[in-house]
Amino acid sequence: MTTVQLGMPVSVPAAAPAAGTALLPAGHSLQAGLLDRFGRRATDMRLSVTDKCNLRCTYCMPENGLDWLKKDKVLTSAEIIRLVGLGVDRLGVRELRLTGGEPLVRLDLADIVAGLRAAHPQLPISLTTNGVGLAKRAQSLADAGLTRINISLDTLHPGAFAELTRRPFLDQVLAGIEAADAAGLGPIKINAVLMRGINDTGAAELLAWCLERGYELRFIEQMPLDADHGWTRDGMVTAAEIRGLLSTGFDLSPDPRERDGAPAERFEVRRQGTAAVLGTVGIIASVTEPFCADCRRTRVTAEGKVMSCLFSRTEVDLLGLLRAGDTAADDDAVAVRWQEAMWAKPRAHGMDHVGLGAADFVQPDRSMSAIGG
Ligand code: SAM
Ligand code: SF4
Repeated sequence: MTTVQLGMPVSVPAAAPAAGTALLPAGHSLQAGLLDRFGRRATDMRLSVTDKCNLRCTYCMPENGLDWLKKDKVLTSAEIIRLVGLGVDRLGVRELRLTGGEPLVRLDLADIVAGLRAAHPQLPISLTTNGVGLAKRAQSLADAGLTRINISLDTLHPGAFAELTRRPFLDQVLAGIEAADAAGLGPIKINAVLMRGINDTGAAELLAWCLERGYELRFIEQMPLDADHGWTRDGMVTAAEIRGLLSTGFDLSPDPRERDGAPAERFEVRRQGTAAVLGTVGIIASVTEPFCADCRRTRVTAEGKVMSCLFSRTEVDLLGLLRAGDTAADDDAVAVRWQEAMWAKPRAHGMDHVGLGAADFVQPDRSMSAIGG
């Protein structure tokens, strides 16, 4: 029986705290899970399986892509399964989202899902994907044990799609969404980022399209996580504007269900002047209405670095420790390092002040694709 199963504080060989971590208080056992100094406990793990992508969304990637990580720097499927096991079995992780880059670029994705499912029969495992190539793979992912899927779709217009993603693949994405639905990966969630002058006026049309099909649409405010550093406060479409754009065709009222730590604020949707609820829409207002106080997320990048926040400027390496050994004591060391990284999580990202005169926000070096959104 290990010290963890006994519920005792784990003692890891004394060493100076790694960069980006904070020393855990005395008596902090593994049973404290991924707790931070402000009393938040991370139970929602976002794991990037690759930094590579086959689209070049203007709000995320530069036109010519990024320097991809070398294969030996990326978590292997066995390392992913071990790390998730540590999170779930020792640190209180209760749900997992696989993301990237574009996770479908990994040809072993269904094997990873199958390995995770075999180890954790009850764990909700979801995937965020751009949908390119999904039509052929949705069924095998469902068969492997994937629970649910989020697919990114910013517009229904081929011209705007090509302008936003710099690739002409709208038809593939639409086919992927249909295939995912047919494979039972619902309820399908659609993620959309609105960019002024390109797809913002199509917001209500996209909502109508999703409602007709029973998909839940979530608008994400554009965040300063683009590799080109082109984000501006004035340029971004705010949550308040999004509600205004939708009110041209719909009435929105707050969804009475508990938000329960979800990043999206949900609204019930009715056709204007009618009573029947057609479905819901979510708005993730990370910039203008941040929800840091209730954040439950812990992120691990494709090269095994913990980021306690999307906007962290520090990263804590777990891959080196994972590769240093595979005994229970080595697992304890990885788990404690992960705890130390989360203990150091900042109170808030400070982004709501950007462009409003305060200077406490600095854009991270990593783009969204290199973190895992
Ligand atoms: N490639 C997959 C995709 O696009 O769905 C998964 C990774 S992508 C980084 C995850 C989500 O982040 C997508 O829904 C995408 O629209 C969103 N995203 C990327 N850059 C963003 C930004 N600067 N602001 C807000 N959302 C962003
Ligand atoms: Fe690729 Fe997703 Fe980033 Fe678009 S948002 S460039 S699909 S990682």
